[in-house]
Amino acid sequence: MVAGPEALPARPGPRTGPPTKTSPPPGRSRRALQLDSRGLDTGTSEPKAAVGTCDICAANAAFDAGADPWGVARLQTGYVRLNPNQYFAGSTFFVAKDCLAELHDLDRPTRLLHLDEMAEVAAAVWGVFAPRKLNYEALGNGAPHLHWWLTPRYADDARPRAPIWEDLEFLRAQWTNSQEPSPDLRDQRRRDLLVALRRRDVTIEVEPLGQWLPPTSPLY
Ligand SMILES: [Zn+2]
Repeated sequence: MVAGPEALPARPGPRTGPPTKTSPPPGRSRRALQLDSRGLDTGTSEPKAAVGTCDICAANAAFDAGADPWGVARLQTGYVRLNPNQYFAGSTFFVAKDCLAELHDLDRPTRLLHLDEMAEVAAAVWGVFAPRKLNYEALGNGAPHLHWWLTPRYADDARPRAPIWEDLEFLRAQWTNSQEPSPDLRDQRRRDLLVALRRRDVTIEVEPLGQWLPPTSPLY
């Protein structure tokens, strides 16, 4: 595999409004009850303080400050963030709250919940973008803070049966930011993902787009 640039950009952007605390609706309490029965702490878990020079911690802190233009939602173990490189439409990150390099560094209850949340985010991406295949990658060679690349793959990809890192046009976009969507398209994809996430079995702790999609919205 070709090592790719995988640091998440921690670019401050226009404020999208303060984070909105969202209580899970009644229909979403099943998970918490299940996890409680297994002895897990299902209460809102504030992320640990940003650490030193970690770009990903900085991006998470920007989300919490309402200053992440790519942020979609904060779940119990991580952040959902649209990938600024939309060469593969719908590319999304699921970023661990904690600044740990490896999946096995998470304590087991957190690891199980993190993997389940990651799969739920993947299902939301799948539902919105309807790809031929979805790629899951946790690399972290350049940014050793656990984060997942959830990358939709399409039949008309340049190399549909190869890893994304073998597509030179993708790499060019990664280095030049040439596939950054317009603010309108970016926000449409964030909203679509949030609507899909609200329909999944996850607990959304913070959703910065909540003011655009109130719980009473017909879309909800
Ligand atoms: Zn970090």
